[in-house]
Amino acid sequence: MKPFRFCPACGSSLLEPDGEGGAHCESCDRKWYRNMAPTVGCAIVRGGRALIAVRAFEPEKGRIDVPGGFLRLGEDPIEGLKREVSEEIGLEVEVSIEDCVQMVPHTYGSEDEWVLALGFVGRAPEGEPVPADDVAEVRWVGPEDLDSLDWAWGHDGDLVRRALAPPSRRRG
Ligand SMILES: [Zn+2]
Repeated sequence: MKPFRFCPACGSSLLEPDGEGGAHCESCDRKWYRNMAPTVGCAIVRGGRALIAVRAFEPEKGRIDVPGGFLRLGEDPIEGLKREVSEEIGLEVEVSIEDCVQMVPHTYGSEDEWVLALGFVGRAPEGEPVPADDVAEVRWVGPEDLDSLDWAWGHDGDLVRRALAPPSRRRG
């Protein structure tokens, strides 16, 4: 994990993080916490198939995930998810808070940053997905395809599997 060594407010050296992850600055008496960064991802379902993406960039370049990304500071998660899907593949996704079926803390990237992945099941009844720069390719897949895909993160595979299951078995 990326270490915090200096106080962002006054530039003094920080003490080692305490058991709760906070690092104290003795100079200005502030405490700095290392929190997980929230991400949003969406299994977009249409006609019994779900949309998966091939990552164009590191980390995990060439491997499979679902459309989504990091929330901006202060951004509503649903609005952030709609923004990410629109930016990445040009689709308007229908999704609400009831569609959140997954919350997974995991590490990300070469410095093992902690992120909290919020997974949703959404719908996009219209339009064809068009990948933007950070997506190499998109594909509609069915339940029979899921085991052979090279998932960047296992929880995305779980999310798509859940999205393609009957509604009563989506949560868990
Ligand atoms: Zn300070």
